Amino acid sequence: MRTEMINIDEARGIILNHTEIMDIEKVDLLSSLGRAAGEDIAASFSLPPWDNSAMDGYAVRFENIQPATPDQPVELKVIEDLPAGYISKNRLSPFETIRIMTGAPIPEGADTVVMKEDTSSSGDTVKILVPPHRGENIRLAGENIKKGGQVLRKRILIRPPHIGMLASLGICYLFVYQRPRVAILSTGDEIREIDSARNPSKIINSNTYSISALVKEAGAIPIILGIARDDKKDLIAKIQKGLSADVIITTGGVSVGEYDYVKDALEATGAKIEFWKVAMRPGKPITFGTIKDKLIFGLPGNPVSCMISFEQFVRPALLKKMGHKHLYRPCLWATAKEDFQAKKNLTYFLRVRVFCQDGELFATTTGDQGSGILRSMVQANGLMIVPPDKKKVKAGEKMMVQILDRSFELEDQQIQDM
Ligand code: AMP
Ligand code: MG
Repeated sequence: MRTEMINIDEARGIILNHTEIMDIEKVDLLSSLGRAAGEDIAASFSLPPWDNSAMDGYAVRFENIQPATPDQPVELKVIEDLPAGYISKNRLSPFETIRIMTGAPIPEGADTVVMKEDTSSSGDTVKILVPPHRGENIRLAGENIKKGGQVLRKRILIRPPHIGMLASLGICYLFVYQRPRVAILSTGDEIREIDSARNPSKIINSNTYSISALVKEAGAIPIILGIARDDKKDLIAKIQKGLSADVIITTGGVSVGEYDYVKDALEATGAKIEFWKVAMRPGKPITFGTIKDKLIFGLPGNPVSCMISFEQFVRPALLKKMGHKHLYRPCLWATAKEDFQAKKNLTYFLRVRVFCQDGELFATTTGDQGSGILRSMVQANGLMIVPPDKKKVKAGEKMMVQILDRSFELEDQQIQDM
């Protein structure tokens, strides 16, 4: 166990070393969206399966129409109309053509398609005015993917184009990595349930909801355990309820206050604690441990601290459990709009809004950075990372910003004037 304060990278290393990847399970095609592939998949047939027309036009023998010009067009005999979805039984003889629609298989004897716009037709003849190149306007069999070509590699993130490709190959079910069940327990005598009667000395439990939302957003399954009192017995009983899950998250009760019993309660339930202090702000008190192969995170109680700790430590672990290879949010360089002075030797995460002006990214803080001020978290779409060796940030300096979520795309929907 590390009793001293450790840095963020060490903490992440310890957590990920204890994080086992889940087993795989078979799901229907659409349910695989956003999951990590649990198997390699190769194409069992070529796509497209046959040469087909890329245009509405005329299937021709190139040698016949090569000399055509608008002044001296080549006339061909139309022997068939071929819509998409049908195969021609005809074979083209010299100076014959088949009127063909986009997607229809190329008839035997044809090697080129002339687009309709380059022809003029009357009755069962057509004049070719402009010859294309040999083989033009034909999509070749296998040009999308050849039989045996790799469509999906184990552990890649399945996105909508993969779903389309798998569907084209007739794949209805596939293996993906399982999603962990994550039990969430809030702690504190001052916390009351969201739908309980008003009480002048209590505040509503919001952490359970913000953390459940983050768990859901990461693709895992939240299980709400409710609220434990600041009482060892109650804590132990509630933590034990969470042991059927794959991951347990508590919030609150991990600092050095008189009633901060979470670490002791975890140890009493058999948890092996690995560390309990990380050099960051917000979120310095964070307990991490394991019970067998289950991960246990004791996050701080302050509403912003627990969310930022989740982002830095829990989310990467959940993504690893779900088989993903990319565990961290994207980081971008952005120009700081304000000065910042660090008070301590810690990594600071500043709530900022990143925006683009004339092709350059800027980051402006979203107000009060207190660890209970959820408002500035609501307005933020990123966290500016100020490393411990950087005491001062000057407006105009380029800083690294961790992009939190899709609100980066929703700049104009930020809450104003709060
Ligand atoms: P703690 O880490 O237990 O000392 O909690 C720090 C502060 O976070 C408390 O004083 C509360 O204001 C707040 N807090 C703790 N747990 C919750 C919760 N579940 N929902 C909302 N606020 C909380
Ligand atoms: Mg507390």
